Amino acid sequence: MRNEGLGSWPARRARKTPHRTALVHDGTSYTYRELNERSTRLAYALRGAGIERGDRVACLTPNHPAYLETLFACGLLGAVFVPLNTRLAADEIRSQLDDCGARLLLHAPSLAPLVPTPDSGLRTVEIGPAYEELLATATSASTAADVPFPLDEPVRPDDLCLIMYTSGTTGRAKGAMLTHANLTWNAVNVLVDAELAADERALVSAPLFHTAALGMLALPVLLKGGSCVLVESFDADDAFDLIERHGITTMFGVPTMYERMAASARWPSADLSSLRTLLCGGAPVPRPLIDTYQRRGLLFQQGYGMTEASPGVLFLDAEDATRKAGSAGVPHFFTDVRLAHPDGSEAGVGEEGEVLVNGPHVMAGYWGRPEATTAALRDGWLHTGDIARADADGHLTVVDRLKDMIISGGENIYPAEVEEAAGAHPAVAECAVIGVPDADWGEVPRIVVVPADPGEPPTLDDLRAFLAGRLASYKTPRSLVIAGELLPRTASGKLRKPLLRERHGTP
Ligand code: ATP
Ligand code: MG
Repeated sequence: MRNEGLGSWPARRARKTPHRTALVHDGTSYTYRELNERSTRLAYALRGAGIERGDRVACLTPNHPAYLETLFACGLLGAVFVPLNTRLAADEIRSQLDDCGARLLLHAPSLAPLVPTPDSGLRTVEIGPAYEELLATATSASTAADVPFPLDEPVRPDDLCLIMYTSGTTGRAKGAMLTHANLTWNAVNVLVDAELAADERALVSAPLFHTAALGMLALPVLLKGGSCVLVESFDADDAFDLIERHGITTMFGVPTMYERMAASARWPSADLSSLRTLLCGGAPVPRPLIDTYQRRGLLFQQGYGMTEASPGVLFLDAEDATRKAGSAGVPHFFTDVRLAHPDGSEAGVGEEGEVLVNGPHVMAGYWGRPEATTAALRDGWLHTGDIARADADGHLTVVDRLKDMIISGGENIYPAEVEEAAGAHPAVAECAVIGVPDADWGEVPRIVVVPADPGEPPTLDDLRAFLAGRLASYKTPRSLVIAGELLPRTASGKLRKPLLRERHGTP
């Protein structure tokens, strides 16, 4: 029986390009042959530990080869890989492990304090000597080089490959069930649209436990036979060193990562000549940021997507990056998108509507949450809860989330638009806009500002004067809060609006 899933990728790659570098991490690199051997050994070890088809295997680690090896090993067994967010608290980790019913957890040594105690019945393996030992003792039959697919477990495209929890930006994270077909079609979409080449050297510094770094970068690059340089955490200064040292050709970052790089002391002098493609997405990409990179001759390829879509939905070609800057582009090659009014009718050109997505990369549903699944997937269309509008050429601009929309005196205000406009004020380092209850208007916008210079914070009048003429007056903030610390964000760089509303939303 054939393995048609992700588990077969290392073996297929090892057959074509055994000596090419697949992974680089902390001074060690692995060829595709080595990646295949290690993933296969791990699959035998997991099978030896009683992991069977359909069992959930969780992984809690910053970016590390073991993360991808576990994904592929699960794929060989027909087991389900569950990556966990390393920034969660111990209770949240435990509740996700319970939610998915994980049988085994692989974790980084540094994250041991987050791991449930042994009495929970969960088997744990520390990524380090214990993990290497597990690989070393796995049956030697697993390494026979002439056996292309050493495990005989039939894995079909529609089998479940992983459960990935959403970022939890709007509430409790939900486990999106992604099949092998979902992830494969997404990788194909990315390879068609992002023009990644076989000699790519990708900087993987965004966390792989979130959908973007995995689906937009690591998996497409590994499918194509390029190399992934895995970095445990993102640091703007280090990013420049890594780009120079490894001749990095491509990377994925959320807007805040690119903001930090542009603000780094290394930005003016760093040699960025090896870079060919900069992928950016996951949150609204501010225009001034796009301009800063364009002035250096670097173009962003903006993407819009979500965990539920494995994740790519919209993509802006390099060709259109300047002409359509600010837009998230058009649907990926095998993706269909509709913009719908609340009554289900189609939004016309320039009109705002909810983004509905259809394609072979859209999830099978939410793990253990049939009601949430029925609400999200209707007649095959994923209802994203995001609002966008299309121009006459069919390019879409993502406006904001429906949940964050403020309704003031019957007018819709999209905070992201106000944040972008106010963020251009020189005294504003960071800002967020939330709705606060108001007797006359229902809700009015309030801006929370992190000042560029804490000694000279902007006043509400400063900002209102700055925004007059740029935004309709009903959109300009009615009150201002100066925040003493950076705004709370998820690991995927998104503003945590529920928390901001809790902290700063009282009238
Ligand atoms: P949760 O669903 O748990 O609340 P989340 O939606 O933030 O969390 P993800 O799947 O990581 O979890 O993020 C997808 C969301 O990110 C999209 O639905 C959209 O709101 C936002 N997003 C992604 N890319 C872009 C982009 N290019 N522009 C604007 N927003 C984006
Ligand atoms: Mg979401």
